[in-house]
Amino acid sequence: MSNAPVQRTPTLLSVVAPVYNEEELIDAFVARASAAVADYDYELILVNDGSADSTPQKLDRIAQRDPRVRVVHLSRNFGHQAALTAGLEHAIGDVVAMIDADLQDPPELIRDMLAQWRDGADVVYAVRKEREGETAFKLATASLFYKLFRKLAQVDLEPNSGDFRLLDRKALDALLSMTERSRFLRGMTVWVGFTQTAVSYERDARTAGETKYTLRKMLRFSLDAIASFSHLPLQLATYIGLISATIAFILIPVVVALHFAGSYLPGFGSLTIAILLLGGIQLIALGVIGEYVGRIYDEVKHRPLYIVREERNRPANGHGGRGPLVRAGLALQPGQPEEHVHERVG
Ligand code: UDP
Ligand code: MG
Repeated sequence: MSNAPVQRTPTLLSVVAPVYNEEELIDAFVARASAAVADYDYELILVNDGSADSTPQKLDRIAQRDPRVRVVHLSRNFGHQAALTAGLEHAIGDVVAMIDADLQDPPELIRDMLAQWRDGADVVYAVRKEREGETAFKLATASLFYKLFRKLAQVDLEPNSGDFRLLDRKALDALLSMTERSRFLRGMTVWVGFTQTAVSYERDARTAGETKYTLRKMLRFSLDAIASFSHLPLQLATYIGLISATIAFILIPVVVALHFAGSYLPGFGSLTIAILLLGGIQLIALGVIGEYVGRIYDEVKHRPLYIVREERNRPANGHGGRGPLVRAGLALQPGQPEEHVHERVG
């Protein structure tokens, strides 16, 4: 594995969870997550992703009782990956775990992940052995997505690994230095490299509430993932174009020959087909290009990924995480001593 000095101990463990309309579950989650990491100095960062139910009030109440629970209220719903990023940017621990707040990821597993981290792993991801209580449709589409992603992207993403993972500070800083807008965090944590290890677990069914991922969101998410890790769809448009052009070129002499042989029936059937075919291919190619141009436009605008409305239990020294640093393009340089960064943020 790694040749770095082994057996590290965390000074502060950050547990980051995005929360969106989880009023039925949030108390249970906080209780279970807090119990799971009680042996460590920890902060639990809950990012309220613009919940419209009683979640925000519940979060404030929890934060009032327990100073280790930090709450970041976003100004509206920015989506799972943006909320997760917000949490990661606010974390100040030297080890950070990200976990879903719906108790589908067992918080107790963080201890196993920490054990791996102690032995020198910088990125520990949880791989689900089983996915209970999810629809056959979700399982099938998820499996299809992972297969496709593996084929298209140059990132070796473990199938069935969600966003439940644990990162060392240096891996997290590397991750946060990636300022792209369409974020596929589970691919990005693999992309940063360092020493990666997996731990496996059984994914529980949601005990309450329902999935916040609609089919549309899931499709959008998969497209984002593939387009931000692969150029193949763009190249695919070229290939399809080339193939159809070749077919057309072959057909020209065939048509001419048929004409002179006298057996050519002037029919607009074939013409119509050709026009439809080529038109279709061109539209597909345009659409693919549009997908990337849209992405370029999004990146160029350089809008913040999320906007914070309010924060609860922000650390007293005013050091609320690395967010503004990264957004200002001042992300941690490789090899830069940690202390230095802490000073700059303060
Ligand atoms: N979530 C969020 N913003 C959203 C959608 C989801 O913060 O727009 C949170 C949600 O509260 C949960 C986690 O992201 O803690 C995963 O969402 P969900 O369980 O709905 O996804 P699934 O497990 O079905 O893939
Ligand atoms: Mg879930």
